[in-house]
Amino acid sequence: MKTILVAGGAGYIGSHMVALLAERGYRVVVADNLCTGHWQAVKGAALRVGDVRDAAFLDRVFGEFPIDGVINFAAFSLVGESVGDPLKYYGNNVGGAVSLLTAMKNHGVDKIVFSSTAATYGEPEKQPIEETDRTDPTNPYGASKLAIEGLLKWCDRAYGIRYAALRYFNAAGANTEADIGEDHHPETHLIPIVLQCALGKRDHVGIFGDDYPTADGTCVRDYIHVRDLVSAHLLALEYLDRGGESGPFNLGNGNGYSVREIVEAARRVTGQPIPAVVESRRAGDPSTLIASNAKAREVLGWVPERGLETIIADAWAWHRGHPDGYGG
Ligand code: UDP
Repeated sequence: MKTILVAGGAGYIGSHMVALLAERGYRVVVADNLCTGHWQAVKGAALRVGDVRDAAFLDRVFGEFPIDGVINFAAFSLVGESVGDPLKYYGNNVGGAVSLLTAMKNHGVDKIVFSSTAATYGEPEKQPIEETDRTDPTNPYGASKLAIEGLLKWCDRAYGIRYAALRYFNAAGANTEADIGEDHHPETHLIPIVLQCALGKRDHVGIFGDDYPTADGTCVRDYIHVRDLVSAHLLALEYLDRGGESGPFNLGNGNGYSVREIVEAARRVTGQPIPAVVESRRAGDPSTLIASNAKAREVLGWVPERGLETIIADAWAWHRGHPDGYGG
């Protein structure tokens, strides 16, 4: 397996995937419409600018390169926006996956690693969450990803396209060696927002609710370093290449941190005060999401190596070096 197509490879997680594949000697092709991605983030790959929903564009890309496997990051991923505009999310996320799978079928490509999400679980039955737990998304973003997982199952049966659906918990951190990191407009994620406060670009961080049933009342999440996240994709690709069975895998550290604990950790790492103000809850936020990563460890041999301090320190190095993201 030598040539990998990374759809959405100019985005935050996709660009870290591209850097890792290039480091490991793979030939990498990125297909990205650059609507949220950055061409500057694509290091060590051929970039083809186009939309994965465009069948003619995909046919050209699959015709140009001898693609052995696909990793799909191309999607919209803002929970709040998805609630207001479900058609945008189903249209792009599900539509993109249908078009990509069609091209794979037509060109005889039989392996795909797919970016799924902990949002497929909705309000979890228990903690830590296992892959076999009930999936019942509470927003169109999670529902669009779960719909694609369903489609993947049927494509495996019908066409023999095998898949790993990787359910991410909270991706954060940066790959400072490759000089890539998180740059969203607008930024909605906690760790980059906290670090923008440390940089003086915001005067405070809003804590979205402190009346949840958690130890300090703020939401608990499982933060996973983007570098650990992308190593799991490579392991999943190799697993599928060995003939491994399709299915979902949780990707998280297995540890939960509250919003207040994140702000505290960022104060320690940056030495900055980072003012925090309690605000009202954000719609659709489950109180606690912690992964059981036992399946990814056992089946893929994945070992996440980076804890919270490293996640925040690496993100801090990126944001300090690039206060205006890729535009700076
Ligand atoms: N959060 C917050 N203030 C912010 C952004 C996020 O309190 O400015 C909280 C949010 O309610 C959630 C946690 O931080 O409980 C992580 O949110 P994020 O948007 O980073 O990721 P999500 O869990 O939604 O994927």
